[in-house]
Amino acid sequence: MQVLKFGGTSVGSPQRMREVAALIDNGEQKVVVLSAVSGTTNKLVALAGCLLRGDREEAQERLDALQSEYISFIEELLEDADSRKQGLTVLNGVLATLRDLFTQEFTPREEKVVLAQGELLSTQLFHLYLRSQDISSELLPALDFMRIDQYNEPELELIQSLLHETLERTAPADYFITQGYICLNADSEIDNLQRGGSDYTATLLGAAIQAEEVQIWTDIDGIHNNDPRVVDNTFPLRNASYREAAELAYFGAKILHPTCVIPAEQSGVPIRLKNTMAPDAPGTLISQQSSRRAIAAIAAKDNIAAIKIRSGRMFNAYGFLRRVFEVFEQFRTPIDMITTSEVAVSLTIDNLTYLEAIIGALEPFGEVEYQLDQTIVCIVGDRLHEQTGYTKKIFAAVEDVPLRMVSYGGSNNNISLLVHRSDKERVLQQLQAHLFSAVPANTI
Ligand code: ASP
Ligand code: MG
Repeated sequence: MQVLKFGGTSVGSPQRMREVAALIDNGEQKVVVLSAVSGTTNKLVALAGCLLRGDREEAQERLDALQSEYISFIEELLEDADSRKQGLTVLNGVLATLRDLFTQEFTPREEKVVLAQGELLSTQLFHLYLRSQDISSELLPALDFMRIDQYNEPELELIQSLLHETLERTAPADYFITQGYICLNADSEIDNLQRGGSDYTATLLGAAIQAEEVQIWTDIDGIHNNDPRVVDNTFPLRNASYREAAELAYFGAKILHPTCVIPAEQSGVPIRLKNTMAPDAPGTLISQQSSRRAIAAIAAKDNIAAIKIRSGRMFNAYGFLRRVFEVFEQFRTPIDMITTSEVAVSLTIDNLTYLEAIIGALEPFGEVEYQLDQTIVCIVGDRLHEQTGYTKKIFAAVEDVPLRMVSYGGSNNNISLLVHRSDKERVLQQLQAHLFSAVPANTI
């Protein structure tokens, strides 16, 4: 069985939903994971924001706007009176859930209930549409099987057994429709896999049923070798290894949720990235097989803070880095890049929530300074470190750019440069010109 996931823009309008229905309907049984209609999750975030600060009036306005948007959506999507009526019942149910939350104490717990409504709506409406077209479809409620533990990590074994139980009690169908992103947490409350988490749902389900393939359908034809918003003449990669894809997704290639590669890699399920706007384009296949290119792609991640700790005590000492790392552990803040010299260590973080507290906690170790507005530019390839000549090309490409940090040798797949955000565009363009100019697009 395959798992197919469609993102928000792929189900962003009634017309798009119809196209998705046509795309999946080839008689082969599959699990279909949907995001919320594009824009809906952001609107729900804003609505919850109003309730968190106690602004019920604005919350009501936002709810009314959502209601009229979905009434039009339903009227356009569902043509026969009976399905339309069912669609409106679904909408009213969701609106009633939201309205109930207006009168209660509103905490981040309730916020998660609000955020879950987008996927609950999109999947139910899509299911009604399929039924209205006599396409065999059943809903699989994600809250029946998607589980995370107390550290917000998915519980794959539990997901697997609960999913099998759910499938057993569900009537046979060609297509099983389920919500991306949403889950229950260790306290059995509604929670989610973080923004963009529908990809993760898809690969977790793919791993749970040992799918032949997980397809992630978006609005771009696969992983591009560079950021197409900044650089001309980028091209999609036909293949990327799990490692290459994970590095690219983590370091800014917006196409994929970074952690979603892990369950696929662990269970050996390939991920195919496909474009809903160009369904015949090959897209990118993420599997054991790498790009087989020394340099496959470049991605960039903004909003990075670089922190430097300089200390005489680091010289010839052991245990120093452990104590530094413990500070980040204490504030549950992951470190991305790290470089060291005998007397100083520099590292980067992308979650700035506890930046000030972290700086304060590091101060006893030595002189601490930090810079904001940094960008990690990540150059990813296959067995980069067995190749020669590439570092020269990379440094030639950025010879006129101040480099705050360079990380090489951490993995076989990546070289990272830390630059100021204002240099990002030209770094990406200059790297493209130096590293890919000789590559005809049809050889990829
Ligand atoms: N709807 C959620 C979001 O906008 C999850 C997803 O689309 O993957 O982040
Ligand atoms: Mg997404």
